[in-house]
Amino acid sequence: MKLIDSSLLKQSCYIAGQWVNAGNSETVPVVNPSTGEVIASVPELGREETLSAIEAAEQAQKAWKKTTAKERSVVLRNWYQLLIENADDLATILTAEQGKPFAEAKGEITYAANFIEWFAEEAKRAYGEVIPSHKPNSRLVVSKEPVGVVGAITPWNFPAAMITRKCGPAFAAGCAVVLKPAPETPLTALALAELAERAGLPAGLFSVITGNAVEIGGALTSSKTVKKISFTGSTAIGKLLMEQSASSVKKMSLELGGNAPFIIFDDADLDAAVEGVMIAKFRNAGQTCVCANRLYVHDAVYDQFAEKLVARVAELKVADGFEAGATIGPLINQAAVTKVQSHVDDALAKGAKRIFGAEQPQGTNFFPPQILTEVTDDMRVAREETFGPLAALFRFKSDDEVIARANDTDSGLAAYAYTQSLQRAWRISEELESGMVGINEGLISTEVAPFGGVKESGLGREGARQGIEDYLETKYVMMGGL
Ligand code: ADP
Repeated sequence: MKLIDSSLLKQSCYIAGQWVNAGNSETVPVVNPSTGEVIASVPELGREETLSAIEAAEQAQKAWKKTTAKERSVVLRNWYQLLIENADDLATILTAEQGKPFAEAKGEITYAANFIEWFAEEAKRAYGEVIPSHKPNSRLVVSKEPVGVVGAITPWNFPAAMITRKCGPAFAAGCAVVLKPAPETPLTALALAELAERAGLPAGLFSVITGNAVEIGGALTSSKTVKKISFTGSTAIGKLLMEQSASSVKKMSLELGGNAPFIIFDDADLDAAVEGVMIAKFRNAGQTCVCANRLYVHDAVYDQFAEKLVARVAELKVADGFEAGATIGPLINQAAVTKVQSHVDDALAKGAKRIFGAEQPQGTNFFPPQILTEVTDDMRVAREETFGPLAALFRFKSDDEVIARANDTDSGLAAYAYTQSLQRAWRISEELESGMVGINEGLISTEVAPFGGVKESGLGREGARQGIEDYLETKYVMMGGL
């Protein structure tokens, strides 16, 4: 891996302001999913190290919460600037460990940095309020206080952005963070910690621990010092962490799985809808929680849409993320490939037709994009998040029918619809049971808008004005006898 600043490639953890090697512990290899090559190794740490990170976080947070919003904002602004200045190196590390095309990785670094910039600004706007009192000679004052020490656990699909959209608001609010990044992508997390240190974040306020998920997660959720868990990942692990956090009644922010419907009505601009699908379905090789999983296409435009989609998907280039022009990198690992293949096999066995795509995955973790038609609700792809470049086209005939089918899932993260009708656009956006809706738009994520789900897709919102609220407690003071 060629970096301009090789000191960004860290193979030790950052705990209590110190870079900690494996010592007597094991190390875990970090593998490039495209080549299978081991690019680095990181310590396999556990409970003990997590407890020392929590202790350091508690101490550091006591001082940090007393700083002015402006002081916190300046440090965050430095961190943002360092991400931008080191974007090439960060994107190189990200592509090497995660696989996404380099251009997409650079896009993620900007997106990740934007959360820090946004919350550097929001730090100054954590306003309270004064309530007109119900009693003479008294004042009712409401203020905002940081929740305290936060345990953060993040996934591999956005190794940088999933971290900054938790850490940005946490540090802005006056909290400390102990982070466990995904085992597949620890290097981006550690590089971010190095830059946080350079930005002037006080020692102990931010720790990054790699290693045993069960031990680290257990230590975070059972600690009384940790007041909040912020998790992005699978619904199953989200539920587990919620259960584990129940005994100490922690605040929870959960960004869990999705099963996004993408509805193309008969009055849609089909070319625009194809472009929407390209980004909502194929970005990050289909490995995002807001990826379109179920493409519902109106019967009247079904064949025409399918034809246009095939032409556009044929332009995708499946290749190593560092290869020029690559648009689809490898999937994260063999298990991901097997899952997508099983969705394809299941659909074909139940009567779906493959109108685009090679039969076998090329190379180890590569999975060429596929388009299936005549997909029906009894197939696995209708129920489970595929997390891969498989476009499954369902057929529908009426608005009521498609709304009911789109909502027939426990997930409720993102949903998309293409229509030229204003009336239909309003109706659908109000009736879809999801935290986010894209109308005539396939890319809805931005630091300025609240990201999050309903139903089993999670709790809380990340980004936007709402994003910092999740890291603040409301305190009410009644001042009597005045
Ligand atoms: P995925 O299947 O996409 O990897 P996971 O929910 O398993 O999704 O992983 C998301 C994050 O949760 C990762 O950082 C992973 O290491 C972590 N994780 C997995 N199992 C546990 C656990 N039992 N306790 C705490 N964290 C966990």
